[in-house]
Amino acid sequence: MKEYFDKLFQGGEEKFHEILRVSLKNEKKLFVVTANPETFMTGKNNREFDRLLRDETTCIVPDGIGIVKAAHMLGYNVKERVTGVEICQFLLKEIDRQKRSVFFLGAKEEVVAALVDKVKKNYPGIKVTGYENGYVKDKDRVFERIMELKPDAVLVALGIPQQEMLIYKHLGKFDKGVFVGVGGSFDVLSGMKKRAPQLFIKFNLEWLYRIVKEPKRLGRFFRSNIRFLLQIRKNK
Ligand code: UDP
Repeated sequence: MKEYFDKLFQGGEEKFHEILRVSLKNEKKLFVVTANPETFMTGKNNREFDRLLRDETTCIVPDGIGIVKAAHMLGYNVKERVTGVEICQFLLKEIDRQKRSVFFLGAKEEVVAALVDKVKKNYPGIKVTGYENGYVKDKDRVFERIMELKPDAVLVALGIPQQEMLIYKHLGKFDKGVFVGVGGSFDVLSGMKKRAPQLFIKFNLEWLYRIVKEPKRLGRFFRSNIRFLLQIRKNK
């Protein structure tokens, strides 16, 4: 697990957004994993996922507060959370400014369609090369389509670990593009789901808000977080 922390981006949101801006501008290929405790636990239990996390070209950012706190316990100087939702928001603004293109893959059809409508209305400089919901069977074919479209950014919202595995499987065939696995971000950005109120975010309780809103998350949360905590204590 320590190897994942060694690779964790420490510099905070503003610095990371700058990396995204420059990657878009220079058409540099970039794969971003927005990590929470479940991400690292998946790496421990799944060899392919472990490989993608360790890959030197993969950029891991601390999405969950659990990762930030654990990093501090292990002596890393991680500044703050860098969340998937805010990466999406920043990328959309920047893609608009740079007049570049994006492809959206993931979430339910009505969610991703609503998001695309919003993007077309609010960001006239963005070229949406296409979109696909996250419940189509053959996602490899979707990626073949994306390969032909050559968008500047590909946002994939399928949840962990599916989104990262899919991106990593096809990444080698692309020459450019910012690829990010963004979890539930399309639900929030489309307006279909509300993000936690600012107060929850400020006090690092966004995870609690999500569990209260969707109690079915509780089992998954406990399983990965308790095992994660035990691992951290062992590593300390
Ligand atoms: N999803 C999908 N296809 C699937 C399973 C999930 O497109 O086969 C979508 C789901 O609709 C949601 C996102 O993936 O928009 C996962 O969201 P979740 O909140 O579980 O992700 P987290 O942010 O917790 O990683």
